[in-house]
Amino acid sequence: MRYAPSIERLLKELERLPGIGPKSAQRIAYYVLRTDADSAQRLADAIAEVKRTIHFCPRCFNFAEGELCGVCADPERDTSIICVVEEPRDVVAVERTGEFSGIYHVLHGAISPIDGIGPDQLRMRELIERLGDESIAEVLIATNPNVEGETTALYLARLIKPLGIRVTRIASGLPVGGDLEYADEVTLGRALQARREL
Ligand SMILES: [Zn+2]
Repeated sequence: MRYAPSIERLLKELERLPGIGPKSAQRIAYYVLRTDADSAQRLADAIAEVKRTIHFCPRCFNFAEGELCGVCADPERDTSIICVVEEPRDVVAVERTGEFSGIYHVLHGAISPIDGIGPDQLRMRELIERLGDESIAEVLIATNPNVEGETTALYLARLIKPLGIRVTRIASGLPVGGDLEYADEVTLGRALQARREL
């Protein structure tokens, strides 16, 4: 027994989502089928709206809805320190700690030779350009505490230190091999406080 074509189509789209297998897709599809038309429309609208309104901040490459992202647009932020992270979700993780008042730079990944990702595939050139234009005194590298994140941190340190800018790395109170976004606020907050010289 097969589903109606429109349900098959929904299932196929849902299964393409990260972490969603056939079982989860079926559960979500059933929810959508049972729910009222307004709720289903709100979900569809929310998806369409983020695609329409969200772009990358031209300064730090975080997600932005206005011209600049919320952090770059905030005049209260300390613009002498840049925190370098791999993904926009890591900005959210660091912000949640309340321990950092500087600005960010999002690389959109980490160096991973196995996956064919080198410095040119990341927003590193843009970071170096910012260091020339803006009055940055410190670069705090908060890439993930795994092999790719460490490789990226060391690569950046070698690139930035000759510019006479202080380069620090978050301390590893974080589980090695873990992801920044899954760390609790206290652990990540301590790691930011106990950053070390690279
Ligand atoms: Zn920004």
